[in-house]
Amino acid sequence: MGTLQQLKLWYKDLISVIYPALCEVCDSTLVHGEEAICLDCLMNLPRCNIHNDPFNTMHQRLMGHAPIERAAAYFHYYRESKYTRLIHAAKYSGRPRIAELLANRFASEISGDRFFDGIDLIIPVPLHKTKIMKRGYNQSFHIALGLSRATGIGIGDNLIATRSHTTQTKHNSYTRWLNSQNIYEVQAPHTLTGKHILIVDDVLTTGATLLACCEAIHKAEPSAKISVLTLALTQLQ
Ligand SMILES: [Zn+2]
Repeated sequence: MGTLQQLKLWYKDLISVIYPALCEVCDSTLVHGEEAICLDCLMNLPRCNIHNDPFNTMHQRLMGHAPIERAAAYFHYYRESKYTRLIHAAKYSGRPRIAELLANRFASEISGDRFFDGIDLIIPVPLHKTKIMKRGYNQSFHIALGLSRATGIGIGDNLIATRSHTTQTKHNSYTRWLNSQNIYEVQAPHTLTGKHILIVDDVLTTGATLLACCEAIHKAEPSAKISVLTLALTQLQ
């Protein structure tokens, strides 16, 4: 090990003594081998467990022109639940590594059910470049990274956001849907011919964003099969 690496490790140890790493969910101190989330919280994660259902709630929310093959979400996003902190940390607090870790773990949990069989490419829901500049990263790309590391499936950058969303949280679902129309473009669609693509995002709410991505790909390359995966799934009011 080089001196610099040793120094880095030593520094990391020192930091963890001064600021011990805490569980993002319950704030308990993490022990060796735990990262971002403690074992208790991981065990009690409100898992969706819907990935084996061929017409689950995600399929239902994403009904449009593009047929959806498989759909998976890791955990339920209840507004009052402490588990929402995982998404907030990954999305707004500059810790995309959490998205990567969760995605990696989710992939390991469902690959035994052959969820990833036949999937050729993972494509993250893109963020507009002004938003990337502001946030510094696209959390969906980090989800793709975690999945890719667990499955060996490559990541594609075919989807691009041509304009920025207005903040969606205050809008109703129809306005959200209108807002997300024609935001996404597909680059090099010929590279997707006959491929099975997994589109990934952090949270599925109404499905407007993911639906717009699926439709853009379906329109640009109708022979591509499409599956979807998100980390969290909200309840619809
Ligand atoms: Zn915890």
